Amino acid sequence: MDGQADILIIGGGMAGLSAATALAQTGARVTVLDKGRGPGGRMAARRVAIGGEQVSFDHGAQYFTARDPAFREAVAGWEAAGVAARWPAAGADAWVGTPGMNAPIRAMAESLDVRWNMRAERLCRDGARWRVEAGEAVFRAATVLVAVPAEQAAVLLADTAPDFAARAASVTSAPCWAVMASFAGPLPLADTLRSESGPVSWAARNSAKPGRAGAETWVIHASPARSRELIDRPKDEVAALLLADFFAATGAPPATPVHLDAHRWLYAQPEARQGEGPLYDPQLRIGIAGDWLHSPRVEGAWLSGRALAQQVLQERLASTS
Ligand SMILES: Cc1cc2nc3c(=O)[nH]c(=O)nc-3n(C[C@H](O)[C@H](O)[C@H](O)COP(=O)(O)OP(=O)(O)OC[C@H]3O[C@@H](n4cnc5c(N)ncnc54)[C@H](O)[C@@H]3O)c2cc1C
Repeated sequence: MDGQADILIIGGGMAGLSAATALAQTGARVTVLDKGRGPGGRMAARRVAIGGEQVSFDHGAQYFTARDPAFREAVAGWEAAGVAARWPAAGADAWVGTPGMNAPIRAMAESLDVRWNMRAERLCRDGARWRVEAGEAVFRAATVLVAVPAEQAAVLLADTAPDFAARAASVTSAPCWAVMASFAGPLPLADTLRSESGPVSWAARNSAKPGRAGAETWVIHASPARSRELIDRPKDEVAALLLADFFAATGAPPATPVHLDAHRWLYAQPEARQGEGPLYDPQLRIGIAGDWLHSPRVEGAWLSGRALAQQVLQERLASTS
């Protein structure tokens, strides 16, 4: 499959889709490539069948805040569309996607040209345009924007934009092991638990989030230190160890799960708060955005993507005037 676009965006998480939305609104021909099977990125939701019932776990981002006025406006739009709702259990300004955390990403993708299952492997110049190879597919575009975690951006940009690659390589992301557990009955605990110390940094009754129903489900996140300690252990072993950590930390009587799984996020959250804004090279027409260039949150990713889109549009305006 070949594709031609004005602007090709690599990465269809919150940063990439925020940039794509802002650019597409101006009439630009935008294509987004994402290696994932479906919408989510780090706002993923995993669906599993438990006892004949479909259950969904938010195993990445748990909720998001909306403080910036422009982001609040976007969130109000998602709320009106039924794809986001407040979740007071996590805080006064906490929001979640409904019925799953990936719902806002899915909604944004619906009005864009997003190609899932498309991993950009190589990026090179092809005359005045960019050529992006993704498996058998080749895409060409005048402008390329990269919106993937720092470590992955460093690899992708190493040959073609070494300055940007070096900037990305200077960022370290904390890993996170996420456990997804379901129980036959409710655990005698509050809906959310957080800890600044100890092996479990966060645990939440996923089934208590707005728009979810059915089985008692929990998502448990290991702290960065515990995640690093277990980084290469098999996921079944990790799930059992972290479940034991969870019961020890909460004091709840240990219960046997009816479903237990774990997912390893290698690049969960960038450790350094960068706050430097997205990077764009108007000569080469290449840019990068992501939470690691703003703040390690959903809102930071959205703001970073939007700011990159504004830079691209300003340069376009300047070059045509
Ligand atoms: C366990 C965990 C807990 C978190 N908790 C919170 C929280 O409570 N609140 C909060 O606000 N934030 C939280 N976050 C952080 C939040 O999820 C991120 O800041 C935000 O989603 C980042 O968006 P992004 O678009 O920058 O990156 P991503 O969501 O990672 O999107 C990047 C996309 O690029 C794609 N991709 C990567 N490489 C390629 C390639 N070569 N070709 C094509 N596609 C590619 C990926 O598939 C992905 O979809 C959490 C994250 C994790 C993992």
